[in-house]
Amino acid sequence: MLTHQTNQSSAFTAQAMVRGGNLGAVLRALKAERTLSRADAAKITGLSRATVSSLVSQLLEAGLVREVGIRTGSVGRPGTLLELNPLGGSVISVEIGGDFVATRLSDFVATPIWQRRIGLAEDSALSVVLEVATELATLAMEQAPAEVIGVCVGVPGLVDVERGVLVHSSELDCTQAPIRSWLSARLDAPIHLVEEANLSALGEVFSGDSGAAGSIDAVLDSMAGLGRARCADVLYLSVGSGIHGGFVVNGQLMSGHRGFAGGVGHMVVDPGGAVCRCGGRGCWDTRASQRALFDQVHAQARRGMHSPLLRLTSYQLTVDRVVAAARSGDPVAVAALADVGQWLGLGIANLVTALNPARIVLGGTLSPAADLLIPTIDTMLRDTSLVWAAGPGEVLPASHGRDACLVGGAATILAGVFSDPLSLTGRKAG
Ligand SMILES: [Zn+2]
Repeated sequence: MLTHQTNQSSAFTAQAMVRGGNLGAVLRALKAERTLSRADAAKITGLSRATVSSLVSQLLEAGLVREVGIRTGSVGRPGTLLELNPLGGSVISVEIGGDFVATRLSDFVATPIWQRRIGLAEDSALSVVLEVATELATLAMEQAPAEVIGVCVGVPGLVDVERGVLVHSSELDCTQAPIRSWLSARLDAPIHLVEEANLSALGEVFSGDSGAAGSIDAVLDSMAGLGRARCADVLYLSVGSGIHGGFVVNGQLMSGHRGFAGGVGHMVVDPGGAVCRCGGRGCWDTRASQRALFDQVHAQARRGMHSPLLRLTSYQLTVDRVVAAARSGDPVAVAALADVGQWLGLGIANLVTALNPARIVLGGTLSPAADLLIPTIDTMLRDTSLVWAAGPGEVLPASHGRDACLVGGAATILAGVFSDPLSLTGRKAG
């Protein structure tokens, strides 16, 4: 009897998986083609018309697709056209940085609806940062035009995605922080916790100019196994309070044995150098992060150089101000950026030697300075990497700039739904 029940239960589970996969196939076909009749969807998915009609009824009832009129014309029979319903669900992406929190609200077709970024002191306690993140996500939820189907949170550091735990973060000064459960207790939506540079790499490489077709659809395609990055081997670097990497190898994000790949800010580049926040000495973070840039501004003053930047308090000194000063020819800003560019170039040269990427994409808080840093980085690469000299690639600014993580976060939630929408089809359309 027990065996009989188990068999029945397995058969039911298998049936549900097939149904979920088929629902996803119809959604992905609609996403790729924008509008389709039921007959078109049957042709594209290879499913029977009767099956597609049944699936579409379920998607209509759940409010994930909508009818948009009748197609008439000389080719094919008239048919009711369907498209994804922008009100099928709302998606929230959050980025928590060392000194800021950013949030974006997007609809079911990944169109951004609302976005906000709040700066924080770099030494803010994790509890304060999480309170701000909760407030911003709550604000986004209040404006959501449809049910929030997921919140994707990007954090800097080593992330255990399965447990939703930030295992270590120098920027947020914490270890083993159960951020997903903390946010789940305060926000009424499924929470996903992912490393920030990995999300940024997805957002940038698969949808930015530096990678592929130029729309978030490319991210969704690639994550749903429908497409691939135009450039298969990319090193994405998020440079801000710390440095984090997202490695795309053969068109796939490489996450490593425990998902911790990309903690490049703690590569030692200067063994006799300054003590890092991680407790080590001479990490790349100490030489090439946002903090290193500010340290260099003050170092120029000690060398007798003068600049209006030196009259700013530490809170007033921002990347944007240093970049603006450099563009107006301020020698302190120019020298500080040149120093950081050299150290960035040294670390990148080591990564290039190990990974041989075709493209290096510079994002994060320092991305407004990318065009000022890239010539120095290029020179360092040519001078110190045999691999680069033998077959140079290109160094590019991130096309989504500081928003890459938010783009990748929205795509992560939507790609999950598009691969198996069964969890959303039990509900009634709002
Ligand atoms: Zn370190």
